[in-house]
Parts: sequence; structure tokens; C-alpha cells
Amino acid sequence: MGRKPIIAGNWKMNLLKAQAKELFEGIKGYVSQYTAVELPTVVIAPVFTSLSAVEDVKCDCGCGGKKISIACQNCHWEQSGAYTGEISVEMAKDAGCDYIIIGHSERRQYFSETDEMINKKAKAILAGGLIPIICCGETLEQREAGVTDSHIASQIKAALNDISSEDIAKSVIAYEPIWAIGTGKTCDAVEANRVIAMIRNVVKEVAGENAADAIRILYGGSVKPNTIEEQMRQSDIDGALVGGASLKADSFNEIIANTMKTMA
Ligand code: PGA
Repeated sequence: MGRKPIIAGNWKMNLLKAQAKELFEGIKGYVSQYTAVELPTVVIAPVFTSLSAVEDVKCDCGCGGKKISIACQNCHWEQSGAYTGEISVEMAKDAGCDYIIIGHSERRQYFSETDEMINKKAKAILAGGLIPIICCGETLEQREAGVTDSHIASQIKAALNDISSEDIAKSVIAYEPIWAIGTGKTCDAVEANRVIAMIRNVVKEVAGENAADAIRILYGGSVKPNTIEEQMRQSDIDGALVGGASLKADSFNEIIANTMKTMA
């Protein structure tokens, strides 16, 4: 199948421009010794005001790939207009982004984002030629009530509603159990893989087998250098969305290094 792994750093609301630049340089210095073929797809997602402090890094081996790609952490589905505080897909692209994270649990929880809004954003991102990283995940209460799978299946069906199989195949999903985000409590790798395989089945239901085989589904939630290898050795986990451990070059680079061990 050969799905290329993605290691994405979600910097959340952290780092001033100079700090973002320093972190970026630390990652760039590390990835420069490899080709894009050897590396996983490395994505960093700074705050909007630091997008100008980072840049994508193209590979010079002739593969046409990138050693670092840029994401932003949110967008609006409209192209322009009276939406104070928002940013459009075209603006994100103009700032160098290839990816946009949408539906992060922090946005659902603190900014009341709904499945319907996330679906509109996914459509706008794909129409604009960028790639959505669509987040989903259950709360601890939902897990304890035994509704994890049904909740996530419904989030995924809603997010992918009315999107073509071709576009779904290009998209990225991040499974992030909310109780594992920023808590140091990683979801057991086998259980994370089970949920991710379930998500892949939902994608198969709505978009067919080719899209299910192609779509990259990441795990997120307290990913650390010492957890990534076991996670990456699972059948269905295609990479990680990393929060806390992406804020230091050393730990993020080690996550990339340990991912490469599983790609050989
Ligand atoms: P964490 O965050 O790695 O700090 O748990 C992950 C995320 O929220 O994307």
C-alpha cells in the first residue's frame, strides 16, 4: 500500500516569531541530512503570526518532495469578506501552507466548532488545493460509556459528507482521544490502532476501498519520542499529530528519527 507516514507538529498558541524561527531552524538543520524520500512527510503548524518565520523546505534530490511542509491550525470556509478574525484557504496558501488542521478538539470545545462547520472547512480546503488534517476523538466520559466508536464514526461521516472519493483519498485524519491530549496519558498503541482501523472502515463505507487504502490516519495525544516507534509499528497508524513534544527541536527530531526506523 505504501502510505507515507506524516509527522505533524501542532504548535498550538505557542512561540513568538523569533522562537518559532529558532525551532524551525532546529528542525531544518536535522532534516537537511536526509532526502524527502527517506523522511516521513514532516509538517509544522505555527500560529498565523509566525507563518512568516518558517518556510517549507524543498528537497533537492530530484524527487519533487518537501522536507518540511507548513500547516496552519484553522481556517474559514468562505473566500473573503466580513468574518473578523478569520483566515481563508487562499490566505493560508499565500502564507505557504500545504495543510490546514481542522476540527481540533480544542476548537470544538472552546470555540464551539460543529461537525457541519468542519465539513464546510474540509470542502473549502480541498477546493483550494490544500490538504485538510481532520481531527476527531472521544472524551473520557464517552470512552467510559462505551460510545467511542459510534461517536468517532459519526464525526468522520459528518466531516466527509458530500466530498468526492478522490478528495477523501488525499485527506488526512487525526485520531486524538481528548483524554490523551496534553495529559501524558498516551492511548495504548494497540487500542489506538483498533480505533484507526475502525475509522478506515468508515472511510471505506463512504468513499470506497481505494480511498480507505490511500487516506493517511494519524494518532495524536501525548506522542513522545519513546512512544512513536510502537505506534508506527501498528498496521493502520500512518503517523502522528504531536503537540507538546513538537515544541522542542530535540524531541520533535527524535520522533522523526524513530519514525524513520519503522519505514525501512
Ligand atoms: P499533545 O497534543 O501531543 O500535547 O498531547 C496533541 C494535539 O493536541 O494535537
